[in-house]
Amino acid sequence: MPPVVATVEGIRQAVGDARRRGLTVGLVPTMGALHAGHLSLCRAARAETGFVVATIFVNPTQFGPNEDFARYPRQLEIDRELCGQAGVDAIFAPAVPTMYPANFHTFVEVLDLSAGLCGASRPGHFRGVTTVVLKLFNIVGADTAYFGQKDFQQARLIRQLVHDLNVPLQVQICPIVRESDGLAMSSRNQYLDPTQRRHAVALYQALQAAQRTIEEGERDPEAIRGLLVRRIEDTPGAILDYAAVVDADRLQPLPRLHGEVLLALAVKFGATRLIDNILVQVRAEQRPMK
Ligand code: AMP
Repeated sequence: MPPVVATVEGIRQAVGDARRRGLTVGLVPTMGALHAGHLSLCRAARAETGFVVATIFVNPTQFGPNEDFARYPRQLEIDRELCGQAGVDAIFAPAVPTMYPANFHTFVEVLDLSAGLCGASRPGHFRGVTTVVLKLFNIVGADTAYFGQKDFQQARLIRQLVHDLNVPLQVQICPIVRESDGLAMSSRNQYLDPTQRRHAVALYQALQAAQRTIEEGERDPEAIRGLLVRRIEDTPGAILDYAAVVDADRLQPLPRLHGEVLLALAVKFGATRLIDNILVQVRAEQRPMK
């Protein structure tokens, strides 16, 4: 089983030893309560790099005051076992004061891209994410870091952070891993009661219906957004947080759909907030022949 390292010096030493052995280093940042989605990132890192570090840290600065920081699932021993099976070489699991000592004063923020979608519903969330991720990049010093498309806006912000601040690291984005009915895997799915769990597949079904409608020729973003909204409104127990149909690079609305388009949903079932998305490559509209 991989060692669990809690100190900055300890993980730097483990990575330094791997580097002296000529190994490249992969980093998989997580908040733990690992599932097959996280493990797919660990396996990608295992396939592409010589020494794989998974981090497990429930980051307080990315949770709002009324969010689930205190009750977020924590299961380090189970996670350690799973990391071992996925070929992780070391786990970095710092305590909160290690990451945020009493004299902590610095945050990084990716402007504009963090304003919409989840940024609008969760003020301060992405500031916490980008700050902790940059800290992990600086602590571990990896060659490649692995993130999931599940958190599309987060991954987009991290790519921008790496570019803008010249972080010497590659960012890899891995596909969404789903349950057999299509629900995107999430550590928060365990909060759902059986009825909510049955209805939670509505997110993916709505996104798929929207994708089919685009493939059939619809190019009006508001028509697609309307379809997503209706599908969620028709789902028992589901409260829509947002439905977005945006350019996947700028995360901004488009007058007509073309290029790479992000269809994204955030939906609450009781206190549990779920997100999901699909990327669609949209062909330019055919102009009618004169
Ligand atoms: P979290 O522990 O929720 O912070 O997630 C850690 C990493 O795992 C992030 O890069 C997520 O995007 C990724 N991840 C979470 N769920 C999935 C999933 N179902 N499929 C692929 N990656 C995921």
